[in-house]
Amino acid sequence: MALRVEQDIFVVRQRGREVAAAVGLERQDQVRIATALSEVARDLLRGVGGADVLFAITAAPDGRQHLRVDLVPVSPLPDRRYEPQSGAVARLVDTLSVVAAAGDTVVRMSRRIPVTAQALTPQRVEQLRAQLGQSVPGTAEEELATQNSQLIAALDEVRSQRDELARLNEELEQTNRGVLALYHQLTDELEETNRGVVALYAELDEKSVQLRSASESKSRFLANVSHELRAPVTAIIGLARLLTDAASDPLTLEQERQVGLIRSSASDLLSLVNELLDLAKAESGRLEPDWAEVDLRALFGQLRGTLRALHTVPDVRLVVEEPPSPATIRTDEMLLAQVLRNLLHNGLKFTTRGEVRLRAERSGDSWKLVVTDTGAGIPAEFHERVFEEFYQVPGPSRAGGTGLGLPYARRLATLLGGTLELSSEPGRGSSFTVSLPANGT
Ligand code: ADP
Repeated sequence: MALRVEQDIFVVRQRGREVAAAVGLERQDQVRIATALSEVARDLLRGVGGADVLFAITAAPDGRQHLRVDLVPVSPLPDRRYEPQSGAVARLVDTLSVVAAAGDTVVRMSRRIPVTAQALTPQRVEQLRAQLGQSVPGTAEEELATQNSQLIAALDEVRSQRDELARLNEELEQTNRGVLALYHQLTDELEETNRGVVALYAELDEKSVQLRSASESKSRFLANVSHELRAPVTAIIGLARLLTDAASDPLTLEQERQVGLIRSSASDLLSLVNELLDLAKAESGRLEPDWAEVDLRALFGQLRGTLRALHTVPDVRLVVEEPPSPATIRTDEMLLAQVLRNLLHNGLKFTTRGEVRLRAERSGDSWKLVVTDTGAGIPAEFHERVFEEFYQVPGPSRAGGTGLGLPYARRLATLLGGTLELSSEPGRGSSFTVSLPANGT
């Protein structure tokens, strides 16, 4: 199309709208592109005396089609630049720019065609071109009338959009009020829950104070009773020994057997009393470890010696492995020896064939001292219970004792800053592991 006189502006505008409609742009977009086109057309007519207007369909790299309008000025643009009189024009289309094309400076605008539009094949474009060629351009009055009706439609649209906005605002306000109410409700609930938690903690604190005092009373009681019992029980043992002494009057065989029974019962009682006293001392917190650098090899050697004298079952081997060097640990030697002796003692007591083994293993900052045996083993359900005071696993393998050894050993391990753990399976033996920090606590 040629744009040469004022009248052409109307024609260009009308044609622009028709083309936009034909390629499938939506109504509002048709008005937008027609308006942008007439604005640019007016600028070019006044500025450089006119232009040739070309419509084209182009495909963007993403495959989407665009309606492109090129306005080729009849004489060169000053400085090859173009600024629309109205800044809003650029917003009506997707792109508006000055490009160099075919040796000319061209004002180019484009607008994306919606995907919902009918596909623009070359045949279809040809068909549209023929149709548009047949339609006769209207007069300026007609175009003015169309423009007016479009303006009215646009104003109407704006009003309905404003109404919609007001409605949305109202909705938003209501939602906000709802959210606020919910927030208050949640805050109240949280406060109430907090109050509950605080009360619960207070109760818990009180209970733990009571518990601590009960446990202290128990320890004190145990310590007192065992202390009080030690003297008379020791006296009974001494007296029984006197009775069977060669220097005393001879006893009948039956009397001798009964005095022997008294002596062994009293000895059992004394060891129970002693163990109770130890445990009570450890629990009352009155047992203070005497920290020092301890050479595990020396300690293991000592255990090897004392336990060899003890163990009498010929089918059971006692193996105390040599600890890997450097075999030093910061701990209380006497207490650690007590723990290990206890575990080895148990191992020998509950093993009838195979071996009882003590070995040491260094891993990072800690030592693992492991006592394993090939004895009867302990079913999983008793793994925690054997660490309770007086607990002994029911069954035929009971071999005397008080049920105080393991709780005492665990207590001492804890006191030394470590742990005592058991892993065992019936028929496969047991393994007790004392883990201790190498550098004390
Ligand atoms: P005690 O040996 O005086 O009975 P402990 O506290 O040392 O008391 O042990 C508690 C119980 O744990 C024992 O009676 C025994 O049933 C079980 N037990 C401990 N060590 C072993 C072991 N090495 N093998 C099998 N059972 C064991």
